[in-house]
Amino acid sequence: MAKKQFKTESKRILDLMINSIYTHREIFLRELISNASDASDKLYFTAMKEGNTGLNREDLPIHIGVDKENRVLTISDHGCGMKREELENNLGVIARSGTLNFKKDNDLGEDIDVIGQFGVGFYAAFMVSKKVTVQSRAYGSDEAWQWQSTGADGYTIEPCEKAENGTDIILEIKDDEGEEHYGEFLEQYRLAAIVKKYSDYVRYPIQMEMEST
Ligand code: ADP
Ligand code: MG
Repeated sequence: MAKKQFKTESKRILDLMINSIYTHREIFLRELISNASDASDKLYFTAMKEGNTGLNREDLPIHIGVDKENRVLTISDHGCGMKREELENNLGVIARSGTLNFKKDNDLGEDIDVIGQFGVGFYAAFMVSKKVTVQSRAYGSDEAWQWQSTGADGYTIEPCEKAENGTDIILEIKDDEGEEHYGEFLEQYRLAAIVKKYSDYVRYPIQMEMEST
């Protein structure tokens, strides 16, 4: 399949994101968890609007899976997910926020407090990842789509398999090189500390699992 190119401006912004905007790499996890929380809020809001009041936030845990051996970190949610066009628009266009649009389009009320607005947080994943794969299935859809990118050289979108609605963000963590260590982001204690530091307020359960090989 043909690889689509980011717009030139987007390439430059992406480079800026990855290399200079954030002082602390660890915040990539805060950004991905806040996106998972927003997606869960959107699902929660939609379910309530449809009259499904039986849903609890406990039913929508955010899951962090660690495969240390293969250097893979996966952040999964059971939220609204993304259709093909949404993957294209929200992840293929830097500084486009589907969440901000959702906020504008809906009267969310007090119980829903979505975080996203700038449309850049997701790309923080590239500070620690050599490849990012997003597998998503939109709520109410029977199709799942995969978005994949190694950074500034563009992205691909293709169909994939996914049993439930929601999104898996799969990070291939960068190799350690000289002074640069990324392996810390595959250590349970370190990840738990980052979650505690930045994501303690998140209203969905955050679960972590170390995969043993
Ligand atoms: P922001 O959160 O500020 O909107 P991001 O760069 O973090 O910007 O994310 C861009 C957009 O991608 C979000 O607004 C949302 O529409 C979509 N998105 C990102 N992560 C998820 C997810 N886990 N589930 C559903 N949609 C997501
Ligand atoms: Mg965000």
